[in-house]
Amino acid sequence: MSTASMHKRIEQIKAELVNMGDMRPGTLSEHYKVCGNASCSCRNPKDPRKHGPYLQLNYTHKGRSRTEFVRRDQQENVRRQLENYARFRALIDEWVELSIEIARAGRQRADKGVK
Ligand SMILES: [Zn+2]
Repeated sequence: MSTASMHKRIEQIKAELVNMGDMRPGTLSEHYKVCGNASCSCRNPKDPRKHGPYLQLNYTHKGRSRTEFVRRDQQENVRRQLENYARFRALIDEWVELSIEIARAGRQRADKGVK
């Protein structure tokens, strides 16, 4: 890849970042629960009908891992935010890689005495 096309790709990445919607890190999963009521059907020893499924979001932020419950009607929103975050990270990684490559190419040119 030429330096010019790497710069061009960085401009594309920036343009995509500008238009990016809300984002958040984490993974969604579903869980069933047993409640505190001893006579509830969720505690039936023969045919337990646990409560749920509940949507749960696990994520790590500023070094702390957290768990949040997600309402059903927020499921699609949250999924979109998770996808945006994954895309954001991929774009940033690509940008950093291109920057390293560009810097390396610049060093090689300097070593050869090319301006
Ligand atoms: Zn119950």
